[in-house]
Amino acid sequence: MHKIMIAPGRYIQGPGLIKEMATHVGRLGSRFFLIGGPTAIALVQEPVEASFDHASKDCRFEIFTGECTRSSSEALSEKAKNYHADVIVGVGGGRTIDTAKAVSHALEAALVILPTVASNDAPCSALAVQYKENHMLDRFLILRRNPDVVLVDSQVIAEAPTRYFVAGMGDALATWFEAHTCTKSNAKNLPGGTTTSAALRLARLCYENLMAYGLSAKLAVDRDSVTPAVEMVIETNILLSGLGFESSGLAAAHGIHEGLGAMEETHSALHGELVAFGTLAQLVMENHPKDEIDKVMGFCNSVGLPVTLGQLGISNLSRENLLKAAEVACMEGLTTHNSYFDINPHRILGAIIGANALGEESLKA
Ligand SMILES: [Zn+2]
Repeated sequence: MHKIMIAPGRYIQGPGLIKEMATHVGRLGSRFFLIGGPTAIALVQEPVEASFDHASKDCRFEIFTGECTRSSSEALSEKAKNYHADVIVGVGGGRTIDTAKAVSHALEAALVILPTVASNDAPCSALAVQYKENHMLDRFLILRRNPDVVLVDSQVIAEAPTRYFVAGMGDALATWFEAHTCTKSNAKNLPGGTTTSAALRLARLCYENLMAYGLSAKLAVDRDSVTPAVEMVIETNILLSGLGFESSGLAAAHGIHEGLGAMEETHSALHGELVAFGTLAQLVMENHPKDEIDKVMGFCNSVGLPVTLGQLGISNLSRENLLKAAEVACMEGLTTHNSYFDINPHRILGAIIGANALGEESLKA
């Protein structure tokens, strides 16, 4: 198998970037179709329009409130086609970004991602996850190439609710452990190759940055402020975790996230919050030493990431109820199977219960 590493064409990060957006993306085309939720659009529309006006480029905003399903992206593709868009811009969080990716893929248009929250590592990747109307996983859509430009305005990110920023740290927390597991099992990364030493170092740097700067960054974001630690963690959540997961591979943390996410009770939990708990469960399943798990759990508790099922909204802790999540986590095609041992629902169930027990214990301390 070959080593493969993929990445976005360009990554740009700094405070106030939206005001100069056209300078950074103008070369990609002349008609920009921007897709975003109402909150994200309200935040960026004025400065972005002024910037495109100044550059004599056309742009149109389309509000998207739907789910990340095939039908919602098909409806938007139709609108973008009628507008003769040559560049699609996803403005907002995970769902919007994945939808914009699917639209750009359908139109074979250029793709810009403008995240307004750093809640997950989707912006840089060539992967879009689509769900069915009932919230079950539909498919992993792999784009022809990664986004052309990922533009991150750190001031916008810092002013968004802290919960999103913290959830992004939860997603980035998994990156190193999943990358490491994939190395041990020789699992394929997203482009279908094996990891490079570069991608593995980036995944490791994710973990190191979170431990070094995570709490300081969270406290600054609580006060809507950009500090060097905030810049570091934005880069960690979006760039390092994005490159790390995509080019090194995902494993049980994300598979368990799918299992827990399919439960009715967790529908208000964010991707990164579920992944953080999934990481703890993966560490328990792989039998990492207690002091290592304590370090990860201590970090979660310090920044406010969930360490128990209760914190994710799950009150029915019976084995029967949790077994349903474990079964979903073992579905064919999920990255749970990138583990270096055989996976079955009972093994996952034990990991979920074991992680929850350690989490509950840590909250007593
Ligand atoms: Zn993720």
